[in-house]
Amino acid sequence: MTGLPLDLGDPTELGELRKAFRGWLAEHPLPQRRPDEPVPAYLNRWHRLLHSGGWVGLDVPPQYGGGGLSTLHQVAISEELAACGAPGVPRIGYLAHAILEFGTEEQRGRLLPRMLAGEDVWCQGFSEPGAGSDLAGLATTARRDGDHYVVRGQKLWTSYAQYSDLCLLLARTDPSGPRHTSISAFALPLDRAGVTVRPLRAANGDDEFCELFLDEVRIEESERVGAEGAGWPLAMTTVSYERNALDTGHISKYGLVVERLRRAVRDRRGSLPDGLVSEVGQCVVDYEVLVAHARRRIAERLDGQVAGPESSIDKLLMTRAEQRLYETALKVFPEALLEGQSAELFGEYLYSRAASVYGGTSQIQRNIIAKRVLRLPSGD
Ligand SMILES: Cc1cc2nc3c(=O)[nH]c(=O)nc-3n(C[C@H](O)[C@H](O)[C@H](O)COP(=O)(O)OP(=O)(O)OC[C@H]3O[C@@H](n4cnc5c(N)ncnc54)[C@H](O)[C@@H]3O)c2cc1C
Repeated sequence: MTGLPLDLGDPTELGELRKAFRGWLAEHPLPQRRPDEPVPAYLNRWHRLLHSGGWVGLDVPPQYGGGGLSTLHQVAISEELAACGAPGVPRIGYLAHAILEFGTEEQRGRLLPRMLAGEDVWCQGFSEPGAGSDLAGLATTARRDGDHYVVRGQKLWTSYAQYSDLCLLLARTDPSGPRHTSISAFALPLDRAGVTVRPLRAANGDDEFCELFLDEVRIEESERVGAEGAGWPLAMTTVSYERNALDTGHISKYGLVVERLRRAVRDRRGSLPDGLVSEVGQCVVDYEVLVAHARRRIAERLDGQVAGPESSIDKLLMTRAEQRLYETALKVFPEALLEGQSAELFGEYLYSRAASVYGGTSQIQRNIIAKRVLRLPSGD
């Protein structure tokens, strides 16, 4: 496991961390998934095991249950995991950032250690039937009632809500106010009276998506995250971290597939059509561009820059690299299409189609880059 794409020359202390982690991994191999164990439950077991070794939340301050180290440390661990084909550190970083930045001291101390330990599983209740790309148009309301709010509405596409304990929920606290300053965020326990979670079965058999029905749900004022009306900046912080390419391990994961493709071109010299060889070449270019971009983003993060609208560039580059990569891989290894053979590759291909939708569609990322990064004039 050498030559991981984002090693940035690995300062000594980072090299030691990698070594320690590899030692830990050798003693704590990936557990087997039990028959009939839902994937999220299995991943939660892995999450708890990683946390018991001290490998989750390395970039979160220690007083909130983290390792007090830097983004680079967490990136290194994610890369190590991806490079050995293990599931990554659970994707909670973007939610943790929202709580860190907007939560009260009491909320950070109460919510973050349990989130990092995998004791509380969180989901993200942003999208609604009429509010996906146009998130600021969300219709769920949270009406003030003394020191409570009463929430009514519906969420959609809430990933794995049925396996979650808490939901980072956006709701409108001032229905007559301006769109962007009348939304608030809440940490809603999903066992609260009035919450109904209904999983939706997708065409590929997965039950990732859920509808969330909120019928006169009472939420305490102390469960609001951030000031009343400050839900929009919180949501934008959350999605900016969600869209970044750094701490997901995706880059190492793509790197493994790129390497397989390179090998296939070498080994099957002459037998792959030229067009396919040039597609592999394009995959390598996409991948190298992504790596170069991610290196720059790490340097910026280490310089203290917080994730912002530039994360839309990460998201577009990742989407492009991922979708072309798995599409090309299926052409080079068509046996993956056969049931039972390399099914993982086929599953990755299917899921890659969603990359241009989740976390905000590619069109929306382009709009953000045009308006907020390039500052191009817009009609609205
Ligand atoms: C795998 C997956 C997991 C998800 N998990 C979650 C989750 O956990 N929590 C959550 O809250 N949401 C989740 N989502 C929802 C996701 O954020 C939305 O699907 C996404 O933001 C798009 O919204 P929409 O589906 O309503 O499409 P729409 O907003 O209806 O868009 C339809 C089409 O119109 C285009 N379009 C819309 N507006 C514009 C515009 N202004 N300019 C140009 N084109 C435009 C879009 O790009 C798209 O092609 C998930 C989605 C997927 C696929």
